[in-house]
Amino acid sequence: MHAKTGEKEPNLDSAPSPAPSSATNLDYDAIVIGAGISGMYQLYRLRELGLRVRVFEAGTGVGGTWYWNRYPGARFDSESYSYAYSFSQELLDEWDWTEHFSPQPETERYLNHVADKFDLRRDIQFSSRVEAAHYDDEQNCWAVTLSDGETCRSRFLVAAVGPLSAPTWPRIDGVDDFQGQAFHTGLWPKEPVSFEGKRVAVIGTGATGVQTIQEVAKTAGHLTVFQRRPNWCTPLHNRKIDAAEMRELKKGYPEMFQHCRETFSCFLHTPDPRNTFDVSEEERQAFWEKVYASPGFGIWVGNFSDMLLDRAANKAVSDFVAGKIRQRVTDQRVAEMLIPKEHGFGTRRVPQETHYYEVYNQPNVELISIVDTPIERITATGLETSDREFEFDIIIYATGFDAITGSFDRIDIRGMDGQSLKQKWRGALETFLGVQVAGFPNMFMVMGPHTALGNIPRSIEYNVEWVADLIGYMQDRNLTRAEARPESVADWTNFVIEKSEGLLSNEIDSWMTGINQNVEGKQTRIIARFSGSAVDYREHCDEIAAGGYQELMLA
Ligand code: NAP
Repeated sequence: MHAKTGEKEPNLDSAPSPAPSSATNLDYDAIVIGAGISGMYQLYRLRELGLRVRVFEAGTGVGGTWYWNRYPGARFDSESYSYAYSFSQELLDEWDWTEHFSPQPETERYLNHVADKFDLRRDIQFSSRVEAAHYDDEQNCWAVTLSDGETCRSRFLVAAVGPLSAPTWPRIDGVDDFQGQAFHTGLWPKEPVSFEGKRVAVIGTGATGVQTIQEVAKTAGHLTVFQRRPNWCTPLHNRKIDAAEMRELKKGYPEMFQHCRETFSCFLHTPDPRNTFDVSEEERQAFWEKVYASPGFGIWVGNFSDMLLDRAANKAVSDFVAGKIRQRVTDQRVAEMLIPKEHGFGTRRVPQETHYYEVYNQPNVELISIVDTPIERITATGLETSDREFEFDIIIYATGFDAITGSFDRIDIRGMDGQSLKQKWRGALETFLGVQVAGFPNMFMVMGPHTALGNIPRSIEYNVEWVADLIGYMQDRNLTRAEARPESVADWTNFVIEKSEGLLSNEIDSWMTGINQNVEGKQTRIIARFSGSAVDYREHCDEIAAGGYQELMLA
């Protein structure tokens, strides 16, 4: 929990005119965009302040990521209990997880349970996609327009839109021509899809593609995987949780959440303090065997401290994982195709797998490298690569998201003087704490660019509480306008850049560095996220709150 606020009076002298108007002519005090994990909790916290809140959600149900990504095999990659909300003891006591890494249907049930328990739905308007949000300088409010033309106005705007929620289809000719069934994993239908005996294609081998492939391969008549760049995947080691184990886990919740507050990225796992070459070759191999055999992200975020900083260290662990792939895949030509050559282990998000590599030993599965033989077009009956024609009943696009800024870009967000957020960020991605943007008063972001991602719900809870505390602080002092000072934005942005220096992952093309070949203008790497520790991030934010938000212009 972060520091209590209010030790210093806010600096009001440089607050811009005009003076804020009263809230009585507004439809709501706050509008929240999105009813995912962030938006649901933001609603809960703002209601506690007595605010009139409206949440607009494009889907028909709550859950955000866990509502949309209902593709086969979707499940947590973080331990279920560490991913849950921690703010309500009652909720923690009454919810039992059935698996260490919860499958999507269970997670969606959990989030619906949260919505019911706290009666959140009465303030959530479903099937309501926000098209535009414009700041009105004169009235000091936000005018929000939905895709059906409905408009309403609020004092505050909270964009709880998620860093991975704008799915992208590949830029391949003929995507609309296919006459069979085609799905994007991030827009998966609610109705069951059968693969039994079907000819199925999966395009994309990120964390989503890997989960999808290992599930679809169980029943498909024939599965063809189209891989551009392979990823380093490591075993999830999921298992069921029985009643006795659940009771024990619950007893340990206070320590577990405290531990997550202290780790680098809020996961249960934390880096080993030793460097790779501090130990003998024998010890090193034994350590890697141990983390490879352990559940979850241990091998990624619990590895030697220099793994993502030192090239030789990174090469050594990459060689270890490559060896595992060679052992697990029978056909060594296929094994070599599955071993990344362009990036080292952990420099992109590590997909967690369950028998993923063994899928390629099945007679009904084929791997095609589209680097060697590019897809030239999608056709009515399948697709054509540079050397073959394929026929399919189903094509699955596991082609990812316009990440981090994409979910903001698709809303026409305009701040003071009609300035477009998308245009502003195309110039330079600049934020204050990843929560505010200069020139966009009273707009707050939860999990915006430049925040600490990691075990996301842990970061979400912190972000949401920070925003609610700030609004509460303003309420107590009859303040109605908060805007980040340009110099605070510059300082924070520089700090984010400074923290990213030396990290091998920032030299690699991935959604984490803002790259998406399917989106115009997203071909240049940027520093999109805060890569310091979550502890660092919170300390910084706590200090600002404790100091009376001097870094903001409050009026
Ligand atoms: P992703 O990591 O961006 O992967 C997209 C895949 O599609 C990549 O293999 C990419 O190839 C390929 N691709 C994109 N455009 C293509 C094109 N035009 N032609 C051929 N291939 C193309 O997206 P994701 O797998 O959806 O995962 C995104 C993030 O979501 C993850 O990194 C993770 O943070 C999160 N996630 C979490 C979970 C979980 O916690 N359980 C599960 C799934 C996802 P290139 O690599 O060559 O670009």
